[in-house]
Amino acid sequence: MLTSALPIPENLKQHYLASGIVELYPPQAECIQTGMLEGKNLLVSIPTASGKTLIAEMAMHTHIAKKGKCLYIVPLKALASEKFDEFEGKGIRIGIATGDFDRRDDSLGRNDIIVATSEKVDSLLRNRARWIHDITLLVIDEIHLIDSEKRGPTLEMVIAKLRYQNPAMQVIGLSATIGNPQLLAGWLDAELVTSTWRPVDLRQGVFWNNRIHFREGDRPVKQVSKNYEDLNLCLDTVAEGGQCLVFVSSRRNAEAFAKRAAGAIKSDEPALKACADRLSATAETEMAKSLALCVEKGSAFHHAGLSREERRIVEDGFRKGLIKCISSTPTLAAGLNLPARRVIIRDYLRFAAGEGMQPIPASEYHQMAGRAGRPRLDPYGEAVLIAKDVGQVEQLFEWYIEAPAEEVHSKIAEPSALYTHILSLVAAGFAGTRHELTTFMNRSFYVHEHRQGRLMQRAVDSALKFLVDAEMVLEIGEHIGATEFGSLVSRLYIDPRSAALIVTTLRERTDYADIGLLQLICSTPDMPRLYVRNSDRPQLERMIGEHEEELWLPMPPDEEEDEEYFRAIKTAMLLTDWTDELPDARICERY
Ligand code: ADP
Repeated sequence: MLTSALPIPENLKQHYLASGIVELYPPQAECIQTGMLEGKNLLVSIPTASGKTLIAEMAMHTHIAKKGKCLYIVPLKALASEKFDEFEGKGIRIGIATGDFDRRDDSLGRNDIIVATSEKVDSLLRNRARWIHDITLLVIDEIHLIDSEKRGPTLEMVIAKLRYQNPAMQVIGLSATIGNPQLLAGWLDAELVTSTWRPVDLRQGVFWNNRIHFREGDRPVKQVSKNYEDLNLCLDTVAEGGQCLVFVSSRRNAEAFAKRAAGAIKSDEPALKACADRLSATAETEMAKSLALCVEKGSAFHHAGLSREERRIVEDGFRKGLIKCISSTPTLAAGLNLPARRVIIRDYLRFAAGEGMQPIPASEYHQMAGRAGRPRLDPYGEAVLIAKDVGQVEQLFEWYIEAPAEEVHSKIAEPSALYTHILSLVAAGFAGTRHELTTFMNRSFYVHEHRQGRLMQRAVDSALKFLVDAEMVLEIGEHIGATEFGSLVSRLYIDPRSAALIVTTLRERTDYADIGLLQLICSTPDMPRLYVRNSDRPQLERMIGEHEEELWLPMPPDEEEDEEYFRAIKTAMLLTDWTDELPDARICERY
């Protein structure tokens, strides 16, 4: 399908033609043929890099031409600014909403496209932002994240609430390949577009004993470094004139790899020196300084700890071909549009709390591998896993390269998610009786999936019991409503269990201490806590001894639970140092 013949607004067409997009990719053409521009709901489940953003953009501009308004949901704050940059400059107004949770942001509604995280949209719904009623097109990027334990329930509820409020709204879900797209499409009343098409050929193999094993045969890799196979794989591509993305399991590993690569690449390109100088100018922490040093020599690391400006310098340097190698945590793999000749998936094990090191899902592997190969620039892309022994070669083919993508399932019935969402439905006026609440929840993906209204009913009842006991919801006869406390908790976007813990503890206190309050906050389910190493213990125990009187929560009697207790104390100590205005670098070092 040629761009020139597309039934899309003329100015968008001209933009595409000017940037060399003269023909749609086959899955894009299929979306048009399926009726996307006539308002059909669509679920698009296609590989990474096959041009999903463009699909959404064509639909959005078609709505805007008819005075519609579009909401584009992204999974991460970092991706919101990337999408903003992509949509900008095409004659429409774009707003971005990722910031403070407890605001209505009425001015946001002046935009044609609003890019937001699902948490932000949920908060806008709770705060009853008026313009939400004007949305005519909802795009959900990476909709497979509905399966995520942490973020999925919010995404699911946001979709359900928006569709309830705006029944005529068109919905387009974009997703990497998933195992059961029919189920999700059914829930969305959507047509399904799936495809295995890719813009560049992808070769996938496993590295072992200085050779990459492909199904089609082996290829040797030169042994430059005696100790580091991952580095050899990287240098091999660089020597060929290609670039490399290396996915590792942690920020620390990403930084360590970039340093090693910098030492081996040793570029003396003046343009890199200029990038490094820009990074050095604002570098305060050790991490930022080390990034500048790496970039100067032609490598970089990339993770969620980088500032927007740092990320931009690194990404630009890579796109221009100056930076030869980026090592990254997988967080940004999905959205990061940085194709490279070779993608090395070095760490396929990841730490999961309570479970130790666990293999990543196949779908995550496919998302990372999908970044291999730059369209029109590379003859092919290569994705390489690294085996630890010969037996693992075949295993990695089975686990990842030849494995189908996982299915997605609703996570809304978990208590950790349900309490907060039930409260928000009551507080924002979506349900005024038990019956209405159940009716609403029966429209969830969970009930669509399990066909088990009764299970959901039981989960809803137990959530309501908690909320009534905690005085957040009042039940009078048939009617349910949020108390002032309940509405506040919902608008502040905190977990009702956090609020209950804070309020109960405060009611019991007659004295006050900063550290006590910080400890309380750090003990709530909302608070991300630092890990505690064995070597931290003596200092933490000393601190607990010194401040026994001021701490508000006692040590749990059960030794198995004291891990969380220590983690909360360590986090509270960090916050104390931060409020005392210790420099960031000191805080990083100490914790
Ligand atoms: P996905 O979201 O599926 O991973 P993207 O939307 O990031 O993929 O697209 C990957 C790249 O392909 C982008 O740089 C985009 O500009 C480019 N692209 C998309 N559609 C086309 C097309 N029809 N022709 C040429 N390039 C395209």
